[in-house]
Amino acid sequence: MDWDAQGTVFDVQRFAVHDGPGIRTLVFLKGCPLSCWWCQNPEGISPIPELMHFEFRCMRCGTCQEVCPQDALELTQGGVVIDRTQCTRCGVCAHYCPTTAWQMVGFTLSVKELMQELEKDRLYYDQSGGGVTFTGGEPFMQAHFLQHALKACKELGIHTAVETSGFVPKDIFSQLAPLIDVFLYDQKLADSQQHAYFTGVPNELIKENLKALAGSGRASDVIIRIPLIPGITDTPRNIEGLISFLKNDIGSVRRVDLLPFHDVGEKYVRLGKPYRMPTHESPDADHVEHIKALFENSGFTVKVGG
Ligand code: SF4
Ligand code: SF4
Repeated sequence: MDWDAQGTVFDVQRFAVHDGPGIRTLVFLKGCPLSCWWCQNPEGISPIPELMHFEFRCMRCGTCQEVCPQDALELTQGGVVIDRTQCTRCGVCAHYCPTTAWQMVGFTLSVKELMQELEKDRLYYDQSGGGVTFTGGEPFMQAHFLQHALKACKELGIHTAVETSGFVPKDIFSQLAPLIDVFLYDQKLADSQQHAYFTGVPNELIKENLKALAGSGRASDVIIRIPLIPGITDTPRNIEGLISFLKNDIGSVRRVDLLPFHDVGEKYVRLGKPYRMPTHESPDADHVEHIKALFENSGFTVKVGG
């Protein structure tokens, strides 16, 4: 057991109730091999710490411009402008900004430190049937940290869940799977070409890992998560394709969660990243109910929301 294994984490949230059974602590790991157009956690895509700007907090004092060792910041009449090509993500501006308008996202955490954090909520886990959920980002991107954090949880009797895109090398996936009690497994687009277009990677590996999991008798430990993205994943053809795959190749999963799109464009602005979503609207409630009924009619237990 490597208690000193280091993970790069961008958030730890306690008392979560939507990401696995019971009351849970969510551990958000940085780094993801996908880049979905609608990603709700764009601060989880890059594996390294990043700088976010909260413009509404800025009082135009100019401190950040003065302290930046790279001359990457300029105080203009419209606010502080950053040249991200010069920024080395040193975090000095975030340290000195009096209003936390600059914030570094991402910090390192050892397995030992994480376990100390989890121990605080053991009573809640035990009483609610909860535990820890590793999410991100793609948790398997930090396989060494994840493996030892999961082992530590097993040793301490803490229930484990991992939210994954499934885009994970097969050997790593099969090696860590026995340490995971519940999988929150994303399914986005049934067609591999479309999957590659909208997420950056094809879906064959994702399907194969899920099939292998089901083939090892663990379908009942899988909660499928489907983001309902207007005009992209919520189309009749895609829903039909996903139902067909799950019904014919996977079988009786524990549940299907339908996750209606919410606009998070502001996060992209704060990170200085382009936002590619062509719409900012959530799917309408009737359409979500219709999709829910399609899954239920195919024998799945469905929940709207996480
Ligand atoms: S230090 Fe903070 S408050 Fe001052 S100008 Fe920079 S971002 Fe704004
Ligand atoms: S993180 Fe460092 S280099 Fe980047 S803007 Fe802030 S002070 Fe400058």
